[in-house]
Order: sequence, then C-alpha cells, then structure tokens
Amino acid sequence: MARTDDDTWDLASGVGMTATFGAATRAVATNTGLINDPFAERLVRAAGVHYFTQMIENERYADDGANSVTTGLIAVLGAHTRFLDDYLADAGRAGIRQVVLLASGLDTRPYRLWWPPGTTVYEIDQPAVIDFKTDVLRGLGAEPAVNRRAVGVDLRHDWLAALVRVGFDAAAPTAWIAESLLVGFLTPDGQERLLRDVTAASAPGSRFAADHISAWDPLQLEASRGFVDRWRQFGLDIDLTGLVYQGDYSDVPTYLADHGWQPVERKVAEVFAAVGMADRWRGGRHDDAIVPGYVTATRSGMPRAEER
Ligand code: SAM
Repeated sequence: MARTDDDTWDLASGVGMTATFGAATRAVATNTGLINDPFAERLVRAAGVHYFTQMIENERYADDGANSVTTGLIAVLGAHTRFLDDYLADAGRAGIRQVVLLASGLDTRPYRLWWPPGTTVYEIDQPAVIDFKTDVLRGLGAEPAVNRRAVGVDLRHDWLAALVRVGFDAAAPTAWIAESLLVGFLTPDGQERLLRDVTAASAPGSRFAADHISAWDPLQLEASRGFVDRWRQFGLDIDLTGLVYQGDYSDVPTYLADHGWQPVERKVAEVFAAVGMADRWRGGRHDDAIVPGYVTATRSGMPRAEER
C-alpha cells in the first residue's frame, strides 16, 4: 500500500518509526566501529520499539539469513552516515559555518561531532521527532557541541520561512544534508519544491549531499518486503512500503545540474571506498539496483532570478 497523507508521526509506528530505525542502525554501526554515535542506543530504548532494541543487543535479530537484507542495509546506512560525517568535516575545513540537516530524525550530529567555532547547525524534522530527541538528550545531560537550532516543521510546508525565523542566513554558504529523505518520503512534487527551496537559499559555495531514488521499482519493493517480513517474525508489524510515496521522481543529480549545482554521483561501493571500508560492501550488481544513488554537489553560481 502506498503512502497517503493521514500520517502517524510517533516514534514507534508510522513515519516517525523510520527515524527510530535510523538510530538503531547507528547503534549497531557504533558497536561494529563504523561510526560513533554514543546516543543512538539510548534514543532507541527511549522510543521503546522492542525489535530495534533486540537488534542492537543481539545481531541474530538483524541477520535475515541468506538474503542478509537487514544486515546489508545497516552496513549501507552506517557507511553513508560516516561519509556524511566526513563530508561535513570537509565543509567545515572549507570555511562553511552554516549546516542544515533536512529530516534529521534521531541523528545526533550536533552532539556527537566536532564543529569549528562559530558554526550553527539547523535540524529540521517533524515536531514530534524533534521534541522527542531534544527531550531524551536533555534527560541524558547531553550538550550540543555547536550552536544547535532545531526546527519542528513539516517539510511539505514553508520550512524555509521557519528556518529563517530562527536565524538561517541565505546569504551565507550552507552545507545541506538530506539523509534517507529523498527516497520516497515526499511526493515527487514535494521533493522538487524542496530542491527548489534549497537551491534558492544556497549562496555560492554551498554544498549538498543526499541519497536518492527515482522511483520505488519492483526490485526495491520486493527487497523491502523481504526485511519487513523478517521484522514481522520478531513481532514488529510495519508496512514500510506504506510509509513512502511510490511516484516517479525527478532525478536528483540532473535537477541539481540543471539549477546551478555541480553534482558528483556515487554508487554505494564508492561510498564505502570513500570512507576506507571497501571490504565491507559485499553486494553485487543486483544489490546496486536496490540501494539508492548518492550525490554530492557544490554551488558556484548565483541563484537564477526565478529561484530567488
Ligand atoms: N536522516 C535521519 C536518519 O538518517 O536517521 C532520518 C531518516 S528517516 C528514514 C526519515 C525521516 O524523515 C524521519 O525522521 C521523518 O520524520 C522525516 N520526514 C519524513 N517526511 C517528513 C516531512 N514531510 N517533514 C518533516 N520530516 C519528515
């Protein structure tokens, strides 16, 4: 069943659950030394999704046998997280002091990464997700290592105005991250509006990084059904395919190239290689077809008049 707009946003079911899954993959990736997110496991426990806490405690729950779709997905998401951590560090070295994490979910980059002095990190997600994360981290006594501005707003609405209200400066170069968002969580029109707004708010020197798919093709739907079936065996009954829209999306790198960005495309194996972990990607051509594409882009030109 494809997604409709009667969303549920809590952390244990519906779209918010995908944020909990993201945190669970970071907890596992932390345990295997791929990344370091000391808060991920605590957030998953606080969200109270039993299967995800089991997944962290005992890899048996993540391992779906011969197909290894869940273990593979955890490795892929972990490698991309690490890639983006490095990407942001590089943006900082290049002098960028403004960062926007679109659909940040339960990611804790403002707390777990080192940031150059003077950096502001804006996080955007649904209010329920932002509030939950902020409360749990406060309860743990965690302090952001950066000027953090968290904005609870629906990305299908005027999120840019909300960002500006809390200090975002469109005249300053920005590093944007859209991690596990451009994979069906917005409608095709909504996704294009988001890219248009990002472009309009990107001063020369801005950077953008995302994973993306053009459509949920039958292979991807079959793979996601595979691990959702596996989850169901362990008591987590979620229709993941019902949480994404299944339309045809504009190709993200092409959109960026057409709107003043210089995109670089990568396949998943290149993402693993870029973080020095080529040996952890064990997929073949079939797997290439079901994982997203990866794009980074730099903006050198001024926004075109119609984008302002
Ligand atoms: N980037 C995080 C990560 O990698 O763990 C979260 C990814 S999770 C798969 C997708 C996220 O998109 C969720 O946190 C969800 O709340 C958020 N999301 C989906 N649709 C959204 C919308 N219309 N407005 C704001 N956030 C949205």
